[in-house]
Amino acid sequence: MDWLLTPGPVRLHPKALEALARPQLHHRTEAAREVFLKARGLLRQAFRTEGEVLILTGSGTLAMEALVKNLFAPGERVLVPVYGKFSERFYEIALEAGLVVERLDFPYGDTPRPEDVAKEGYAGLLLVHSETSTGALADLPALARAFKEKNPEGLVGADMVTSLLVGEVALEAMGVDAAASGSQKGLMCPPGLGFVALSPRALERLKPRGYYLDLARELKAQKEGESAWTPAINLVRAVAAVLEAVLPRLEEHLALKAWQNALLYGVGEEGGLRPVPKRFSPAVAAFYLPEGVPYARVKEAFARRGAVIAGGQGPLKGKVFRLSLMGAYDRYEALGVAAMFREVLEEILPAS
Ligand code: PLP
Repeated sequence: MDWLLTPGPVRLHPKALEALARPQLHHRTEAAREVFLKARGLLRQAFRTEGEVLILTGSGTLAMEALVKNLFAPGERVLVPVYGKFSERFYEIALEAGLVVERLDFPYGDTPRPEDVAKEGYAGLLLVHSETSTGALADLPALARAFKEKNPEGLVGADMVTSLLVGEVALEAMGVDAAASGSQKGLMCPPGLGFVALSPRALERLKPRGYYLDLARELKAQKEGESAWTPAINLVRAVAAVLEAVLPRLEEHLALKAWQNALLYGVGEEGGLRPVPKRFSPAVAAFYLPEGVPYARVKEAFARRGAVIAGGQGPLKGKVFRLSLMGAYDRYEALGVAAMFREVLEEILPAS
């Protein structure tokens, strides 16, 4: 078995594996409705929202697009800080959705400061919480507050794809009106489901459009435990099973994920590697490649030890590598991965 040290998809939770070994459910049955309603209720707890969470069959990007297209009408002005590959994606989605987009560029690894988004005249602000491409964590509450002081009617949409069940997430308490996430990251399930969390404020402001992406139609069906179209219902069952196991001990789980990521940074920094982000997300540890060492060499050194890692994206391609223990790894497995990482560094770093 491979050690998946990639920031998604990740090593599956045993409860997900167990759920996925069960027979196909038919989605228009009482058993499926129960599963769907259970998953939605648990996802509301995970996002800490009094609003609604919609489960869509697709990946995180689908959830991002559904969020943008159902909250903002063409021609509305939105602010999109770009500080990594996924904030770049939010920018592209907003443009494609016909919005008037003001893009604010930051070096990859950085995140915007509250004063950068304290600008008047916008219907919305789109932010990536945990920028997986750089390992940076944006300070969502401070950014949402600064934006809303200038735009009291404005809506804040967040990509919480690699913060849900990995770091602190609390929709309304963070000043976030809507968030997108997916099944293959902190939820430790296979890829295939996207989630859109909508606060009570966002629910009042829905401007549905699209056909498959029409969230008003989904909401109507999902309130009854159904979905508008055939859902990946067995994945929904896996999500419910994992959340049921993890949520009662969420604090402990988040502390473990934070400790594991800090462990990876500790090993890298001991080896003289330079971290990419300024504010660390607990989802992934990103390092610049050592001088003169190509990414292929690091990847191959991990692969020989049975591990799969991730490289750089966008402008960081060929410049960085990334490791993640976001999947179902316990404390002692993480210590084993840290030992593997030390071995790799001894092998690839020039002897001093
Ligand atoms: N946003 C972030 C922060 C991500 O890490 C990812 C996946 O890597 C996505 C969005 C896109 O999700 P997907 O690949 O599931 O469409």
